[in-house]
Amino acid sequence: MSSTSAETSSPKPDSEVIIIGAGVCGIYMLHRILKLGLDVTLLEAGDGPGGTWHWNRYPGARFDSESYTYGYSFSKELLQEWSWSEHFAAQPETLSYLKHVINKFDLQGHMQFDSQVKAATFDEEVGLWRLETADGRNLTCRYLLTAIGMLSAATEPRLEGLDSFKGESFHTYNWPRTPVDLKGKKVAIIGTGATGVQVIQSIADKVGELTVFQRRPNWCAPLNNSPIDDNEQVKIKASYDEIFARCQKTPGGFIHGPDRRDFASVSAEDRLAFWEDLYASPGFGVWLGNFRDVLTDVEANAEFSEFIANKIRGRVNDPAVAEMLIPTDHGFGSRRVPMETHYYEAYNRPNVHLVNVSDTPIDKITPKGIKTSDAEYEFDLIIYATGFDAITGAFDRIDITGKDGQKLRSKWDKGPITLYGMQVSGFPNLITLAGPQGASVSTNFPPGIESAVDWTADLIQYMGKHDYKQVEATPEAEEAWVDHVKEMYGHTLVSTAKSWFTGYNSNVEGHDILRHMVYFGGAPKYRERIAQIAENDYEGFDLS
Ligand code: NAP
Repeated sequence: MSSTSAETSSPKPDSEVIIIGAGVCGIYMLHRILKLGLDVTLLEAGDGPGGTWHWNRYPGARFDSESYTYGYSFSKELLQEWSWSEHFAAQPETLSYLKHVINKFDLQGHMQFDSQVKAATFDEEVGLWRLETADGRNLTCRYLLTAIGMLSAATEPRLEGLDSFKGESFHTYNWPRTPVDLKGKKVAIIGTGATGVQVIQSIADKVGELTVFQRRPNWCAPLNNSPIDDNEQVKIKASYDEIFARCQKTPGGFIHGPDRRDFASVSAEDRLAFWEDLYASPGFGVWLGNFRDVLTDVEANAEFSEFIANKIRGRVNDPAVAEMLIPTDHGFGSRRVPMETHYYEAYNRPNVHLVNVSDTPIDKITPKGIKTSDAEYEFDLIIYATGFDAITGAFDRIDITGKDGQKLRSKWDKGPITLYGMQVSGFPNLITLAGPQGASVSTNFPPGIESAVDWTADLIQYMGKHDYKQVEATPEAEEAWVDHVKEMYGHTLVSTAKSWFTGYNSNVEGHDILRHMVYFGGAPKYRERIAQIAENDYEGFDLS
């Protein structure tokens, strides 16, 4: 532990705590900080709360997590009074839920909207963070808690002529609030990740023509969504303790945990029966409830990938189109599995066309549409479902400066460096909630962030109790954590595929290298670890 000038000369900040972001994470963090009786302000760039669920209003936006595992678990009263209408609820319902939570816990008064933070600088003299908003306001705080979202920095393709298009165009993240008239329109969509898949299956029967520009297909599997009837609602509400206990035990924080049987120890006939069962069951079971070695062993993975390939062949009428939809560059589950509802059947419609832009790359966007290396297409509307500068992108968009003028963006230039995904050496009192290398970014988000938020609230309370003013990761502990995060990548086939899990994004300069973005050691191990270091008086952190 070291002594700093902050101990003796720290002035009163505008707010003891500032939280950036009013999404799932920021909302709960605000509630916990208020419970501690601290003075807190939440700044949000948008004009309303909800984060992901405020922005992503595209047709078909909905959970891939079971709704009843996505609600907060911290309040039994809240769990009992809220009824999810479907097993996998759609965006409007989730946004209503989050607004309900804000009203119930009286949080709105502490939130400032249209308040985009442009810069945050740690003032070493006084031990405070100085923030600057896009509209020119300056604020100070002691603790800066970032709840800025892991998928909130949307990226459009780096293509010539993007602004020249005369029709309507937008990224799915910025889908307009006013209804978009699709009837009879010639629509293009670029991107076939989880977002593109949801949009394609939802609008195929609403547009005139839909042309899908696909670079690399993904392995998609049925969501098998259904409404929750009254009987089931009663059962769910009576079983929340068991549901959350189950989520606490699984590596991904979902109700689906891996089957611990060795893939090779099960007969071919029984494997097939098991997989048919998974394919017909709701949610991520097919991915996260599979034999564990399907995600770690090349042979097991190849066999299951072939099982899914045959499903695609069985659902798509045109064999050539079916083959275009089957990934050849990665095995099932090594990238995030998009969950679908009649997605493959959309390609059986005469008004839906698939263009393989790996073979015929997009040259540019023209005033009339899209020009590839072998054709020019005309459209009324172009939808960019081209993803995000994931996890670190939202940090990079804020000019964050720590001790000795060090920029966070420079420190993370070749990939993130953190301690437990919660803190960064050189950036005292900055808590990177839902930041890179923590467990919340690789697991069912609400259970993941609840642990991170609770840990942060406990840390701040502990500091108050011991009259500490500053917390900062030690470089040694940070290095050890990053090594551990890297090691965990070696235990899964995820490291073999280019995706946001491995830090790739062709639309961002410099993001064409492997970056270790998430923690793959599993949520239970992660929780155990951060609980243990808290018990050991925050071992690995300098408190002063
Ligand atoms: P994504 O998975 O990164 O997919 C982006 C898509 O755009 C990919 O198909 C990519 O092709 C394509 N693309 C990007 N730039 C391109 C370019 N210049 N030219 C051609 N194609 C280009 O992004 P996302 O679909 O928005 O999903 C991101 C994450 O959000 C998901 O993994 C998931 O975690 C989350 N999400 C969740 C839900 C849910 O819970 N229900 C729904 C939607 C999204 P390549 O594959 O070749 O790079």
